[in-house]
Amino acid sequence: MPRLLLTVLIAALLAAGCGDDEPSSESGDGLSVATTVAPITSIASQIGGDRVKITGIVPEGTNSHTFEPKPSVAELLSSVDVLYVNGLKLEEPTKELAEQSLKDGAEIVELGTRSIPEKEYAYDFSFPKSGGKPNPHLWTDPRYALKYAGIVRDDLAERQPADGDYFQANYEKFEAMIEQFDKAMRASFATIPRAQRKLLTYHDAYAYFAQNYGWDVIGAIQVSDFEDPTPKEVARLIDQVKQTNVPAVFGSEVFPSPVLEQIGKEAGVKYVDVLRDDDLPGSPGEPQHSWMGLMHFDYVTMTEAMGGDATALKAFEPADVAPDKAVYPQ
Ligand SMILES: [Zn+2]
Repeated sequence: MPRLLLTVLIAALLAAGCGDDEPSSESGDGLSVATTVAPITSIASQIGGDRVKITGIVPEGTNSHTFEPKPSVAELLSSVDVLYVNGLKLEEPTKELAEQSLKDGAEIVELGTRSIPEKEYAYDFSFPKSGGKPNPHLWTDPRYALKYAGIVRDDLAERQPADGDYFQANYEKFEAMIEQFDKAMRASFATIPRAQRKLLTYHDAYAYFAQNYGWDVIGAIQVSDFEDPTPKEVARLIDQVKQTNVPAVFGSEVFPSPVLEQIGKEAGVKYVDVLRDDDLPGSPGEPQHSWMGLMHFDYVTMTEAMGGDATALKAFEPADVAPDKAVYPQ
């Protein structure tokens, strides 16, 4: 057979999604993917776009660290081809349910666990080494969000090879957006003197981000069992805030904290209670409702609260690189 004809024939077979390349979902129109927290749902959606069906499990605004899926989630898990979790011990009950429920051939892929070698795990305030759970919040650092996206791209391409080029193209657009975002972050953070880039947060979600962008996490109020700290610990933190001269301390949308408010008041600094680590801003379908919208909101908030100039960040507009058709439980 002439080589050209053969090439055309192979291309036609591939385009038709023939044989092994056939999407494995029952509906026949693409893989079924389940995800856990909303930032992961959003990142997966940036790569999968409208060629896969993505359904999140952890409702936005709930404590993802203690979340236990309802037994009814088993039904969703039994229908999907793959479950993307963060891993690093964040979603153990959901993983357990998945292990019992996934159909033959379906798999759990731990995006976080695959993105970082064990020797680089952060153990810190709310995630002490003695507790055995590393700080799982890799995704608040864009370099890891991009790693997650790369793992999703490779995994989707393996399961649905006919759309490999589409997933790769989305990845490249996402990478380009993250490069711009990273530049805007660095430009804005540079307006805050290095010695003043100190974070005292309620929820301990910025360890990896801080390493990458030259911030120091001086404390996190929330202890590893998600209870409030003791009065003695609170007194120590008030002293620490006074000594370090930070202009603001940060609370979390998902964990309203009277303790942090008290620390702010007694130390005489601003208490900013709006940071979020897995609850996306806006509602599904709105442009800011994405992983990038979430991080953009946080980093503008941090810059301004610390007295910096967030012009560069504000000039950057987060945007989807592919249609976001994912289901985000509210
Ligand atoms: Zn968290």
